[in-house]
Amino acid sequence: MYQQEAPQRKPGPMRSTVSTEYLSPEMTRLLSIAQRELDRHTSDHGTCTCCHRHWPCPTACLAASTLDGL
Ligand SMILES: [Zn+2]
Repeated sequence: MYQQEAPQRKPGPMRSTVSTEYLSPEMTRLLSIAQRELDRHTSDHGTCTCCHRHWPCPTACLAASTLDGL
């Protein structure tokens, strides 16, 4: 009997890459914005490197949830 291997998914707070092959242009644009925000808002010893708030800052949370919700 053929057994299909389950893809290995590593859970994490952030994704470094997102597949945009199946998304509409608007969604792709939204994703790229969220991705860019995540790149800017990163943790530096618990403080955001961009807005200097306690990390994860609201912007990073929003961007991460945007990526997760798609
Ligand atoms: Zn921030």
